Amino acid sequence: MSPENTAPSNGKAHILADAAEVAACLRAHTHFVMCAHEKPDGDVLGSGYALGLALKSLGKRVTYFLDDEVPRNLRFMPEWRSTQRTFDGVAEDAIFIFFDMSDQSRAGKALQWVPRERIVNIDHHLGNKRYGRWNYVNEGEAATGSLVLGLIFSIGAEVTAEIATCLLGTLISDTGCFQYANASPHTMRLGAALIEAGADKDVITEQLYYTRTFAGQKVLGRALEDAELTDDGICYSIVTQAMLDEYGATHEDLEDVVGALRVVDRCQVAALFKESADGAYRLSLRSRGTFNVMEMARALGGGGHFRAAGATIAGPRDAAIARVLAAIRAKMGETSSAR
Ligand code: 5GP
Ligand code: MN
Repeated sequence: MSPENTAPSNGKAHILADAAEVAACLRAHTHFVMCAHEKPDGDVLGSGYALGLALKSLGKRVTYFLDDEVPRNLRFMPEWRSTQRTFDGVAEDAIFIFFDMSDQSRAGKALQWVPRERIVNIDHHLGNKRYGRWNYVNEGEAATGSLVLGLIFSIGAEVTAEIATCLLGTLISDTGCFQYANASPHTMRLGAALIEAGADKDVITEQLYYTRTFAGQKVLGRALEDAELTDDGICYSIVTQAMLDEYGATHEDLEDVVGALRVVDRCQVAALFKESADGAYRLSLRSRGTFNVMEMARALGGGGHFRAAGATIAGPRDAAIARVLAAIRAKMGETSSAR
């Protein structure tokens, strides 16, 4: 495939300059650690595996680090078995590439020690904190994987079928299979080009959208049964540890729940509270597009995108719900008075 249509879609000169600096860093160094956040998704892992394969093809050393298990539905990605939970074999001068993370804290405890001067930050989230020595951020792209594709061209590596599968996984994962508003004509063209380069679209969609555990479907049913819809259009539900235990499900099984809340016709903002083992709640927020849930999440110490964001909220349960509803309403009030 060719580099056409893979330049940053909003064409800002500084973004291209940042991309050139990151490409120069990739050429200059010899050992890279691909860093994913805990509870990884297709974009963060696919971006790391794709760039890792490209760097290896140029003779570089690559380590894939993840302080977590690789989710079952992402095991179609060619490099997943090489992922490690330790820093064994990582050289003193290795460069750490953080993918798809707006700030370093998103990387989880295990990666907080990495100093700025060894960090490359490649991301597409709103409000990225530029925490790396090298930062390549373009909020206009649907997935971090789009930025990685541009870098792979820049360093002169070939886009093999394996790389294409990883990258198509990033796009399919972050666009809801090309359904969300972020799936622009540019994104669709990248997807088409990746399929032409040998990406296995059918395996990816089967894994990401059409394979669910029975326990997970049961919890989805339960979360919908328990959902509340407020007069001002907030649709929310809670999945507790007790519910997960009852059905034998895990957080990995909860991916569809918040989307199922968002489709309710009067819903403006969907919120799902997922209780963690430590008693805190992982919050997932989604909007239909009128409200910027990233700002709502940021007011709660989290972040994300305009239509999809998240945060961690301390318990107990009723206080967590009250805090989040208040934060959503505060931003809803600001948005409607600005109209
Ligand atoms: P999800 O609801 O699928 O966990 O997350 C939706 C989006 O919000 C993702 O893009 C994710 O990166 C972002 N996000 C989720 N939780 C957090 C958080 O605690 N902090 C920040 N900065 N972003 C988050
Ligand atoms: Mn992403």
